[in-house]
Amino acid sequence: MALKQDYIRKMEIRKQRKVEAGVVSDRFPEIRNMVIHMTYFHDAKNPVLMERTINVFPTSIAYFNMECMTKGCDNGGFDLTPVISRLVKHHKKSAKGNMICEGKIEEFSSDHAKVSYQINITYNKRLS
Ligand SMILES: [Zn+2]
Repeated sequence: MALKQDYIRKMEIRKQRKVEAGVVSDRFPEIRNMVIHMTYFHDAKNPVLMERTINVFPTSIAYFNMECMTKGCDNGGFDLTPVISRLVKHHKKSAKGNMICEGKIEEFSSDHAKVSYQINITYNKRLS
């Protein structure tokens, strides 16, 4: 039971953070469109856990803290927000990188999960 309550509590926190994040057009008005491609790796024989592509529009929620897919991972995840902020600040079109989950998990080592990401941004034309 405790586990289930813990899960519900986490989902509530996530929901609240998403509400607070607002929408992309408010937070990053320069962005017309953004594509985030992520590959999830975990500590196993077959390390690729999954791949996903996220299309972000001005109306999307500006929440880019991606969940860690490892069961039981506490406070983990991959926060792409600083990467995206940096890109927008310098008006760069793309970025690539890796990120390791900092979450804690009992039966696994600290490097239980990582992602490699690629972000492509299309900007709005500047109004002159
Ligand atoms: Zn994790």
